[in-house]
Amino acid sequence: MRIERVDLDISSRAPGGGVAAYVCGDDDAILVDPGGDSDRLREVVAEAGVAHVLATHHHPDHVGGIAAYADEATVWARRGRESEFERASGVSPDRTFTPATTIQTSGGTVEIVDTPGHAPEHVALRVGESFVTGDLAVAEGSVVVGAPEGDMRAYLSSLRRLHARDPACLYPGHGTVIEAPRAVLGRLIAHRLDREDRVLAAVDAGTETLEAITDAAYEKDVSDVANLARATVEAHLEKLAVEGAIRWNGQRARPA
Ligand SMILES: [Zn+2]
Repeated sequence: MRIERVDLDISSRAPGGGVAAYVCGDDDAILVDPGGDSDRLREVVAEAGVAHVLATHHHPDHVGGIAAYADEATVWARRGRESEFERASGVSPDRTFTPATTIQTSGGTVEIVDTPGHAPEHVALRVGESFVTGDLAVAEGSVVVGAPEGDMRAYLSSLRRLHARDPACLYPGHGTVIEAPRAVLGRLIAHRLDREDRVLAAVDAGTETLEAITDAAYEKDVSDVANLARATVEAHLEKLAVEGAIRWNGQRARPA
């Protein structure tokens, strides 16, 4: 089934800026993550006879262009998250999906796959042997998984489940297309576990506050991105506490 990428030049926090929208299918196609609008996107949407539009998650750089296509396509949102979707996109959805919902295009069936972590409502789309993955994975660097919205435990399990499905190719919202998914997913998992080891070691050594644990968990100076680093470490602390590896009351961490 055809997957066509359209790079949109919009401001984004993500590395490299911009966001990629994807059109999946040859006819009755699905438009995924129109973070904005462009002449090129209009052309591709018209060529592919787009009949459906949805977003992998509700961040503005993924939903900003949905309103522009709402009149000509069925707008989908995750069931139970319709009002959040409407707040983010300005559009009230026509239909809802759940994980495992399938959408028919004339090129074949597209399956919604639950991939929470970066955002609680995050999903990917399986298109043949490949996946459109939003902000689940990036070829270089890493995505934001920070408290309170991000869930590190869910994120790692999303990465592992996708790794187990051995995809042919990943089409991310930011950065280049991922042609070797297992290598990249393995790298992303290892990167998180490595940071988790440092966080756990810091707590076991008696470090208690978020600030001090963050300093201990990052070897480079993160003062430019201090809030992001702290939110990431907080997501690790929440995961470790749920798993019984430490105690964490939102203020102080203690060894289990
Ligand atoms: Zn995002």
